[in-house]
Amino acid sequence: MYVVQMASECAPVIKAGGLGDVVFGLSRELTSRGHCVELVLPKYDCMRYDHIWGLHEAYRDLYVPWFGGAIHCSVECGWVHGQLCFFIDPHSGDRYFNRGKVYGDWDDQMRFAFFSKAALEFLLKSGKRPDVIHCHDWQTGLVPVMLFEMYQYHGMEKQRVCYTIHNFKHQGTWGVEVLQATGLNRAEYYFTPEQLMDNGNPMAINFMKGGIVYANYVNTVSPHHAWEARFTEVGCGLQPTLAAHQSKFGGILNGIDYGIWSPEVDDQIEMTFSIDDFENKVINKKALRERFLLRESNQPLVAFIGRLDQQKGMHQVHHALYYCLDRETQFVMLGSASESSINDWFWHEKLFLNDNPDCHLEIGFQEELAHMIYAAADIIIVPSNYEPCGLTQIISLKYGTVPVVRGVGGLVNTIFDWDYDETHPLETRNGFVFYQNDRVALESALGRALDLYHNEPQLFAQLAKQGMVYDYSWKTPGDQYVGVYEHIRHK
Ligand code: ADP
Repeated sequence: MYVVQMASECAPVIKAGGLGDVVFGLSRELTSRGHCVELVLPKYDCMRYDHIWGLHEAYRDLYVPWFGGAIHCSVECGWVHGQLCFFIDPHSGDRYFNRGKVYGDWDDQMRFAFFSKAALEFLLKSGKRPDVIHCHDWQTGLVPVMLFEMYQYHGMEKQRVCYTIHNFKHQGTWGVEVLQATGLNRAEYYFTPEQLMDNGNPMAINFMKGGIVYANYVNTVSPHHAWEARFTEVGCGLQPTLAAHQSKFGGILNGIDYGIWSPEVDDQIEMTFSIDDFENKVINKKALRERFLLRESNQPLVAFIGRLDQQKGMHQVHHALYYCLDRETQFVMLGSASESSINDWFWHEKLFLNDNPDCHLEIGFQEELAHMIYAAADIIIVPSNYEPCGLTQIISLKYGTVPVVRGVGGLVNTIFDWDYDETHPLETRNGFVFYQNDRVALESALGRALDLYHNEPQLFAQLAKQGMVYDYSWKTPGDQYVGVYEHIRHK
């Protein structure tokens, strides 16, 4: 099958969170099965160009219709660890992808509406006719809308779209100008509840809703989150739209790429290890302590890795930090915030705790450090308010780092409580789960983890090893996505 992925991120060239991992990991899995996979991405100025091989011009003069005129683009292509990627490079005064960052500008919606249009225009003009276009999140929600309202009449009538929602919180809404810009000209048609009109704001067009209404198949990134989005406020206003399209909506759990995320092969960690030489994990702990100037001791090491965003339960992370220090437990955090208030808050904490030998807060995005922390920590906390899938707990399992998670979204599908899970026998349980979104619940679960570490070290090590044997590779989700592609391409 011939599949084109369209997305705003792809690890490791451009990654803000799990979306980048998923786009790359799924592409690699599909390629390894013999499918032809190509990726179309914006050409950002802030990409990791050192991860792109053989970058060269692939299409010179691509004129992408935009408002009444057109924006002149070129398309470059290169290989990202074996995956063929096309990068759209618009040459206009808007400098859409030359902002030194991926997200967070006032006109993000217009930037990515343009990208969606340009990606389709590129397929059209270059004669590429994939069986399936797989697009992701609000940034490419307008792709199926434009495909089925415009491009299918210009020679792309056989293409089908799979649309994956990684986060319902960010839906991409904008006024009528986005219709004028993209050429979806009948405002009265699109501004209806069945079409693209935002379910909360009748003056806005909702990109994600467009993706749901028009794609041939829609999924989110775990079965439990699919249920939450349909039936709870986690759907962020899209519940009625999902209900109307429930026959083509489902949940497919993300995988991770064990070629990148495995302590057996990871070249970014101090010492590789596996279940058989699990004792080598402690060498990574020692290395991390040296790097962060933490004192050497027999205390456990608790970590948090993630975007510093309200979604991730920032007050709980903050509380966990002081709870750990109270319990003579070391704590490290790696995160970056796009909201300045959260950034300032953690910078304040960082300065406040600067001389504490049991704690380190690293504020920023550092892939290599993330690997070191997964390998070094004993426990990782994931106290999210909501979590569509969550990769940090899945990665941690592979590194023998025990997850303590809140039972929401994909965390419910991946972590099974050591003491209380009734659906899994003791020998397949892999972490600790709490449900209420308050400090007492967090302390109770984290406290149980720390008690096990101190009182029953052999059992704690056994629990960590039980996590390591879980297979959350792309194998099963790869089967499921191929099943979806096969299903929609014959429709
Ligand atoms: P989300 O997609 O909501 O950000 P996920 O848990 O699905 O959360 O994926 C997070 C991914 O981003 C993981 O690969 C994690 O290691 C990585 N990550 C998050 N924050 C950082 C950071 N500050 N530095 C390095 N990697 C990070």
